[in-house]
Amino acid sequence: MMDRSDEEVLETGGDHDDEEIVSKKGVVSVVWRFFSFKKSDVDQTTIYCKCCRAKVVDGGGNTGNLLHHLN
Ligand SMILES: [Zn+2]
Repeated sequence: MMDRSDEEVLETGGDHDDEEIVSKKGVVSVVWRFFSFKKSDVDQTTIYCKCCRAKVVDGGGNTGNLLHHLN
């Protein structure tokens, strides 16, 4: 555990089949506080919104789409 904050709602139980998601590696941009990857996605290619757990397309490497999703 690195970041104990009120965002710590990623581990869900119950009937969800969601696996644990993890933050992007080696990035400090604030936008990545809102997005993450499945733990098994070692290449971190599929982005998930931490808020609604929707899959988000990153539009080719920039974070514009990610920010758009937040709005
Ligand atoms: Zn969302």
